[in-house]
Amino acid sequence: MKALSMREIERYDRQIRIRELGVEGQLKLKNSRVLVAGVGGLGGIATMYLAAAGVGFIRIVDEGVLELNNLNRQIPYSEKDLGRLKVEAAAERLKSLNSDITIEPIPEKITSENVDELLRDIDLVIDGLDNFKTRLIINDKCIEYRIPFIHGAIYSFEGRLMTVIPGRSPCLRCLIPSAPPEYDTIPVIGPIPGVIGCLEALEAVKIITGVGKPFTDSILIFDGLNLEFTSIPIARSPRCPACSILTD
Ligand SMILES: [Zn+2]
Repeated sequence: MKALSMREIERYDRQIRIRELGVEGQLKLKNSRVLVAGVGGLGGIATMYLAAAGVGFIRIVDEGVLELNNLNRQIPYSEKDLGRLKVEAAAERLKSLNSDITIEPIPEKITSENVDELLRDIDLVIDGLDNFKTRLIINDKCIEYRIPFIHGAIYSFEGRLMTVIPGRSPCLRCLIPSAPPEYDTIPVIGPIPGVIGCLEALEAVKIITGVGKPFTDSILIFDGLNLEFTSIPIARSPRCPACSILTD
């Protein structure tokens, strides 16, 4: 395990002071490897917080190019990034935020062909995607490789979050057996992916460091219009094609 430098002890001082985290928690963050699938509204925010917190290796995957209508919510980017690959612009932004960590930008669409390679040596996956077809591809592989998967989604004034610990909690496919019809364009106001992306980063920090309780066995619904958080219990499906054969 790589040790902390004096500079890192200074940089992360405020979180090392949290009793549950301490130097030990910071070391776990430094030595962890996270995949962020999609660096738009959700993934862009989550990645910024993971980089700031000192997650040592972050692989960001997105085939998209920054468009003007992304800027109402995709906070890591600026107007100067328009037309650039998001992973390239994001990697630059993240390195300027924290040069002590490694960012691996991969400008690819996630498919069943490349997902195994993308998940190689990864400890945890964050869902920053905009479609359930790809989410389910990742969910199923995370179950197979027993990699924790943090699902997030947004629509309009609403956000959702669910954490999957393979073998121990329901997976995304228990909840959504097959991909529903997708929207051509998802309407959204920026603070909604901001809230959910932050919560995804928080879940990641908790799981990596082993503190607190992951948000499993329920889906969190955030109703931004009324500022209400509702948690709906989800059970593991005994017929789930992804996770029903797994045990703890
Ligand atoms: Zn399942």
